[in-house]
Amino acid sequence: MIIIMESSANEAQIKEVIAEIRDAGLKEIRLSGAAKVAIAAIGREQDLNQERIKGLEGVEKLMEIQEPYELVSREHRPEGSIIRIKGVEIGGKALTIMAGPCSVESEDQFRRIALEVKAAGATILRGGSFKWRTSPHAFQGLGLEGLMITKKIKEEVGLLSATEVLDPRQVEAVCQYSDILQVGTVSMQNYPLLREVGKSKMPVILKRGKWATYNEYLLAAEYIMAEGNENIILCERGIRTFVTETRSTIDINAIPYLKEKTHLPIIGDPSHGTGMRHLVPAISRAFIAAGADGLIIETHYDPEHAKTDADQTISTEAFAILMGEIEKIGGAVGRTI
Ligand code: PEP
Ligand code: MN
Repeated sequence: MIIIMESSANEAQIKEVIAEIRDAGLKEIRLSGAAKVAIAAIGREQDLNQERIKGLEGVEKLMEIQEPYELVSREHRPEGSIIRIKGVEIGGKALTIMAGPCSVESEDQFRRIALEVKAAGATILRGGSFKWRTSPHAFQGLGLEGLMITKKIKEEVGLLSATEVLDPRQVEAVCQYSDILQVGTVSMQNYPLLREVGKSKMPVILKRGKWATYNEYLLAAEYIMAEGNENIILCERGIRTFVTETRSTIDINAIPYLKEKTHLPIIGDPSHGTGMRHLVPAISRAFIAAGADGLIIETHYDPEHAKTDADQTISTEAFAILMGEIEKIGGAVGRTI
């Protein structure tokens, strides 16, 4: 923290700020410029009473020199985190590819997709049972029936499953039926939900809010980790910009930027990021080239007739071809599949 004094600040006012810093157990370094004095407070910044310092006479402003998040910061674990879920690793050398329909529609649909994506090399099966829809009249997901199908099929086929939770009251049930919780873009700042997911200690895919800055995103992850849940996978899924021709704008910067700032693994979602199935392969390759730890891809044997997100869902055949491309791009950046 650096405290900038007003140019008119007198010695007594400067001393008062220094006393505040020392009382909080921090050390000060006084930096005297031509017109102003700045005081760097070194130590546990959280022990400083920032509001009181701001209110002291002669103080112009406070400047953060540390990131506002702590537990998820790269400094907290410089070697990076590997999330381990029943033998599958996310964040290691091997890429983790998740695939499946936007929504669980029926047992037969989910089984067939599970078998086909597994044969192509996916290790995690996605599929929502609680859907966040713009219209209350649209298909909302199969709910509990979908959860039961998820458990049955993932065990039968031998995949891990990822299921979205929309509401803190759904967390307990989803934990019983699925292996990984997914917090969707619309829920990124639903802090009661983040706390509940944190308490569950279950692995979680935390999608980036389509409006969220990197700091807001990492502070959302901090909410989960502050409850003792370290099993967090970030997911860049596109943000809302002035571009209306695609569903979202993939922020590819997010991958290398977040890798620098946090120890958490990060995957890319080319499906919601583009909204167009013909763009999914190129953007998948771009994510891997940029350093993503994996992908989550909406896949269906009959994508045109998927009940939700049909336009961005690729066929299981296209997914199998894409897996070959991902392997090649991954190899070029030191990753295996
Ligand atoms: C989804 O994965 O189907 C979904 C709703 O994603 P997002 O929250 O990123 O829109
Ligand atoms: Mn979807």
